Parts: sequence; structure tokens; C-alpha cells
Amino acid sequence: MNIHNIERYAAYNRNSIEKTQQWHLMSKELREAVKVVSLVLPFKVNKYILENLIDWNNIPNDPIYRLVFPHRDMLKQNEYAELLKFTSNSENNAELQSIVHKIRTRMNPHPAGQMSHNIPYFEGTPLLGVQHKYKETVLFFPAAGQTCHAYCTFCFRWPQFIGEPSLKFDARSSENLVKYLRQHQEVSDVLITGGDPMVMSASSLEKYLLPLLSDDLAHIKNIRIGTKAVSYWPQRFVCDQDFGEVLRLFERMTKTGRSVALMAHYNHPNELSTEIAQRAIRNIISTGATVRVQSPLIKHVNDKAQIWIDLWNNSVSLGAVPYYMFVERDTGPNEYFHLPIFKAHQIFKDAYASISGLGRTVRGPSMSTQNGKVLIDGVVDLNGEKAFSLQFIQSRNPEWVRQPFFAKFKAEATWFDQLEPFYESDRKFFANRYHLNITRSSIDNANVAIGLATSPQPEAH
Ligand code: SF4
Repeated sequence: MNIHNIERYAAYNRNSIEKTQQWHLMSKELREAVKVVSLVLPFKVNKYILENLIDWNNIPNDPIYRLVFPHRDMLKQNEYAELLKFTSNSENNAELQSIVHKIRTRMNPHPAGQMSHNIPYFEGTPLLGVQHKYKETVLFFPAAGQTCHAYCTFCFRWPQFIGEPSLKFDARSSENLVKYLRQHQEVSDVLITGGDPMVMSASSLEKYLLPLLSDDLAHIKNIRIGTKAVSYWPQRFVCDQDFGEVLRLFERMTKTGRSVALMAHYNHPNELSTEIAQRAIRNIISTGATVRVQSPLIKHVNDKAQIWIDLWNNSVSLGAVPYYMFVERDTGPNEYFHLPIFKAHQIFKDAYASISGLGRTVRGPSMSTQNGKVLIDGVVDLNGEKAFSLQFIQSRNPEWVRQPFFAKFKAEATWFDQLEPFYESDRKFFANRYHLNITRSSIDNANVAIGLATSPQPEAH
């Protein structure tokens, strides 16, 4: 691949994947699984991933194949069997749609109360496409950025991609965000997220980002952009048609004195192995922006300490900053991907002990719960009983941050809501931690009145 040539982005979905050469390298069983599981979970891959990131001699165990291609065990056996008969007749089939909706609802589409608890109000109206969970940080979901260059099968944002309006949240412009931020001087950070905001053209990005640089928003010091384009389409920062404008936009932002951080989502060191992926990081850093590396810990993809050692050490060599290891969220096909939290802590500890000191900026394993980010600090012995030592590293209640607390040890626990306090006095930390399967309808009703409820299709890249 000549990294200086403009390469056309080409994506493949459930139907068009059959046209690729790689489809013919897959066994009949693997192809069937793609067709069945993608009735429920979004599937998209692109030419760069097919040709550069997957080792086709090692499927289905190749980590990037596991990351992008649906596998039959992502559904329960009875669900898979029920869907099998629809693979050749999936258009406008009411029975199929009803089965699919039931399975998606079972998959906890909005973990940690993100549809209900984090939506802020402006002049009495909920602001769709904005979340304000922590005092200093606001998340913004631009409508044109609610897709990705490929979809990860484990993604906790999967409801954004499946075309069910009741499960989506996004905003058409940053106008209301700007008005809200003017009234909230306590906010220092804005995280632009998706989907992947880097699917947007440079001119769309400008439309959303430049208003944040206005003089009356001087309190916004840090602008973060959550993206996996660095892995799935690094051309975006190297040779895509408007990559120069994108880099100039970052430069313009950093020149205002603000910190601009690309919150780069890498799940495996293979994603950093290509020349173009490495060039992407260097180009971003040359604008004055930083690249921070984060990922969930996922079974079948990165469940070995050595993988994290390589990911973090290679990131540091390229000038990127290791940032977070997350525990896989309790949504989507998480039974396929999750690991017990004691195992997550073991993998983090083993990797952390073996990396360059420059990589020890990384935090984890962290669970993004309804009350905040809970760090698993370790397994300890309390009066002869095993317990998890935990702490919030970010919380809706700032007084809880960095206060150690304890949960009874449970070997099979994979998420915070399966834990019980070790001491009764710690019970407050465990409040409100259960799933909330609330859809957007209640918020929609209020927003229809002010024209905020429509969800336009994402802009094609
Ligand atoms: S790139 Fe990010 S938002 Fe998109 S599917 Fe993957 S994890 Fe989800």
C-alpha cells in the first residue's frame, strides 16, 4: 500500500460482504453466522481492515476477525435457531422484526442509565445528543457522526447503528450545546463522540467544533474526540481526500491554547502495526493534539497480558499515551466477550508490571457504571475473607472519588451490579447500579415540541 495515494474508502455490510474475495476464504459455518447474527447486531467492515488487519490464515481466531465479524455464540442457541430460517427472507418481515426487537431489548441497549440519567436540561427541555454525567465533562453526539468506519461486535453504542429511533440519541448542530455550555462555567471538557465523529467531512467537523472555540466559552479548556478511525481508517489522517483540512482544524483548535485529545480506541497491537496507522498518530501529534489509547478488555480479542504489554509499549514508542483499560460493558453480546472482574484485574496487573514507566499513565480495569468509573484495585484479605478493593476514579458525587471501598469477592462476577458491599457502611456506593431499559420515548415527547427529536441518517463518509 502506498500511503501517499488517495485510497477510496469501501465498506461492506451484511449483503455486500459476499462480493469480497475474503468471503470465499470463510467456511460455510462462519458465513452462516455472519448472515444470522447480523440480523440483530450491526455489521460493517471495510477494505483496509479486510486487506491489512486480518490474518485470513488464522480465522476465526484472528483478534481483528473476532472484533468485527459476528460469531454464532453471540446469540443464545434458541435465538440463533429461530433466526436461521430468515437468512434468505429478511426483507420487511414482521415476524422477524419482532424476534429481533425482543433479542435487542434483552441485550440491555442502554447500560448505566445513559438514556435516562445523563441527559441535561436547557430552559426546561432535555437536550438530545448531549450527556452531562460528571460535573466537568459534557458528551456531545453529533448526528452526522453516529456511524463508524466499521463496527465492533462488542460495542456498547450498538443501538446507535441499528436504525431503531427509540434507541438513538444524537444532535443536528452544536447550537444548543453552546447555549448550555455558556450557562455551565463548571464544564471544562467536551467529549465529541459517536459512533465515530471522524466519519464526518472536515467541513462538518468544523461546523460542530469551531463554535466551541468562541470567546464566551473560554472555560472549555479541553476538547476530546472519541475515535476508532486511527485503527479502522487511518487514511483519515494521512491521505484521505480532506485529511489536510482535518489536520489544519486540529491545529487551529490547539492554537487557541486548548488541549485537543484524540481518545483513540485500539483493542489490539495489530491495529498499530501498519505503516499508515503509525503515520496517522504522528500526523495527529504534529498538530499539537495528543493521542490517548483506550480499550475494553474483551475475551477472544485481547484477554492476555502480553497483548496489553505490546499495545501500551508500542503506543508509547509512537508518542501516544496509554489511558484506560475498561471492563467490557453489560450490553449487547457481552456474555460472549466478558471476563470475570478478578481475571481482568489479574491481566491488568501482569501487564502493568511489565511495561515502560512511560506507559503507567494507564488506569484500569475500570467499570463505567451509573454512578461513575469504578476501578478494581485488587483482591484483598479482610478478617480472613476475600474481598474486592474498589474506588471511584470519577463519580457523579465528587466526594466519593479515590475513597477505597470493598465488595464481597465473587469469582464469577463480571460487572459491578453483581457485587455486594463487604461492609454495610459501604452500601451507598452500590446504590442505583442496576440496568435501566428505558428508551427515548419519554424524552422524545418533550423534544418533539421543540423540533429536536428527529434522527437524520449519518452523513456518508
Ligand atoms: S468504533 Fe467505537 S462506536 Fe464504533 S462500533 Fe467500534 S466501539 Fe462502537
